[in-house]
Amino acid sequence: MQIDKHSVVTLHYTLKDNDGNVLDESSDGSFCYLHGENNIIPGLEDALAGRLSGDALSVSVPPKDGYGEHDTERTQTVSRDMFPSEDEIEPGMQFQAEGPEGQALLVTVVKVEEDTVTVDGNHPLAGVQLNFDVKIVDVRAANAEEIEHGHVHGPGGHNHE
Ligand code: ZN
Repeated sequence: MQIDKHSVVTLHYTLKDNDGNVLDESSDGSFCYLHGENNIIPGLEDALAGRLSGDALSVSVPPKDGYGEHDTERTQTVSRDMFPSEDEIEPGMQFQAEGPEGQALLVTVVKVEEDTVTVDGNHPLAGVQLNFDVKIVDVRAANAEEIEHGHVHGPGGHNHE
């Protein structure tokens, strides 16, 4: 069956940057998503449309169709006092912060000075060309409840217990 809106797609993937470093891969063998509901990045979803179970493909997604360009305005320097004083703060650490509209935002520490900490609110993969190797394992039609919820149920999907 062909991947179309509201297909449930099971696939294996490996994600690499342009230097060949593996950034992510499907753990436990496979990943499952509901197609056509923005559950995965647009560049990959577009490339999978119309594909069949068993297809293998390589997809190179530019940042604009992935996690966006790196926006320097999302980097800000804040007072060290905003972090728990007992904790050692080091570059690479991630914290949950509040975005301009009150939304949860994951920020990454990029620089630590005596009284200030510089954090970056860009997605860690913003500005990165995403090179996927994908193997489509299974394609099935979603059921009515999955379509209503906008995600997959059952193995590899949401468990509402
Ligand atoms: Zn659900």
